[in-house]
Amino acid sequence: MMENRNDGNGDSMASSPGQNWAGNITYGAERLLRPASLDELAEIISREPRLRALGSRHSFNRIADGPGALVSLTDIPVDPADIRIEGATVRTPAWLRYGDLVPALDTAGLALANLASLPHISLAGAVATGTHGSGEKITSLATQVCAVEFLNGSGETVVLRRGEEDFDGAVVSLGALGVVTHLTLDVEPTYRVAQRVFEHAPWDAVLENFDDIAAAGNSVSIFTRWREDGLADQIWVKYREGHPAPDLSWLGARAAEGPCHPIPGADGSVCTAQMGEFGPWHGRWPHFRLDFEPSAGDELQSEFLLPRRHAAAAVRALRDLAPRIAPLLHICEVRTVAPDSLWLSPAYEQETVGFHFTWHPREAEVRPVLAEIQAALAPLGARPHWGKVFLPDADALPGLYPRWSDFGALRERHDPQRRFGNAFLESLGL
Ligand SMILES: Cc1cc2nc3c(=O)[nH]c(=O)nc-3n(C[C@H](O)[C@H](O)[C@H](O)COP(=O)(O)OP(=O)(O)OC[C@H]3O[C@@H](n4cnc5c(N)ncnc54)[C@H](O)[C@@H]3O)c2cc1C
Repeated sequence: MMENRNDGNGDSMASSPGQNWAGNITYGAERLLRPASLDELAEIISREPRLRALGSRHSFNRIADGPGALVSLTDIPVDPADIRIEGATVRTPAWLRYGDLVPALDTAGLALANLASLPHISLAGAVATGTHGSGEKITSLATQVCAVEFLNGSGETVVLRRGEEDFDGAVVSLGALGVVTHLTLDVEPTYRVAQRVFEHAPWDAVLENFDDIAAAGNSVSIFTRWREDGLADQIWVKYREGHPAPDLSWLGARAAEGPCHPIPGADGSVCTAQMGEFGPWHGRWPHFRLDFEPSAGDELQSEFLLPRRHAAAAVRALRDLAPRIAPLLHICEVRTVAPDSLWLSPAYEQETVGFHFTWHPREAEVRPVLAEIQAALAPLGARPHWGKVFLPDADALPGLYPRWSDFGALRERHDPQRRFGNAFLESLGL
């Protein structure tokens, strides 16, 4: 049975929703429901007038909040047999964290194509927000999905497979179509990855050689505090076995001599192994190890993704804003993402570069600076990361996403009563 913590309306199965991971959001939803089985989930969906799925709470805005009930699936037991490997795919409960799926894949000698900077996030939450790692030839995590199964606003079970009409609209869903119960992901034979960190490359040289740097490994991240001395703090290069070992000394960068954290001065031992040591894919693609808290903890995050051809213009714009940005910043990360065909993916149909900001948790000061960043990046076609802090511009979004109105029509079919709606979606004009 479900838990009995807080009885708001004669419902013996509710508790208070609490906060997101960063602690900047106290969910305003009335209660949190924790079904102990998929049948109980179906019963909740048939009964609750307004509800929304909650993942692992790692988003920094109110995308996961709602006016009615939040539903967490993490109390539904997962049997090893629930993770079904068939050929080059795995069908898995969607509420698992990437780190929870890894042992089953390892046992079968299989791997995913990439991961985000942390393995702590749920599959469903990551996919719903277009979460990505880095790599000019690597697409976002949502593109690993080849089938999505969800309960829609009419309580129907919907299964959409890649290639079917509507599939491309239903993966990066912002949680608006229903509660995703299972995902089927592409897998491949396991492989090993190494990473090396290079410090203090001059930004001017980075800009001149951006394409060569992005191609230095399979996955490259440039970390910068937009320092006055014009140096990029670190460049992390992750490369699969068989890829030439990277060396960025020609840029004027030096190879790090010990484990680094993306935030200079923070403890590098919480990060995945560096120094060119090969290890399993899941121990290198993320920056942070599953057994530690990722990142700084005391932080907010924002990210803007724009056509890669505008990378240099965006860097110049952000360098101009450095005096406003730097005092509020832990670190900025620049990554590339390959294009995909998912309607609401920030990398939809374009070679993409992402500018990510890990801020000190001073939201009142961060917001005016975000307004300046967004004004500077808007002419370059910047799309916000759906799970991070940004100032929504409902007028601009349809122009940034060619399939925006198709997504609206898809939502109309699956949730005509807006049972999964929330104020966040309304702020986007959805
Ligand atoms: C330290 C840190 C590092 C990060 N690094 C990266 C990174 O490298 N790359 C990147 O792109 N992002 C990154 N993020 C952002 C993160 O990946 C996204 O916020 C992601 O949505 C988190 O997943 P979640 O399960 O916590 O989702 P939640 O915040 O719980 O929910 C997000 C959305 O998913 C929906 N959802 C969740 N579960 C379901 C379900 N079962 N069915 C339907 N909808 C559902 C929710 O309704 C909501 O709309 C990072 C975040 C943190 C805190």
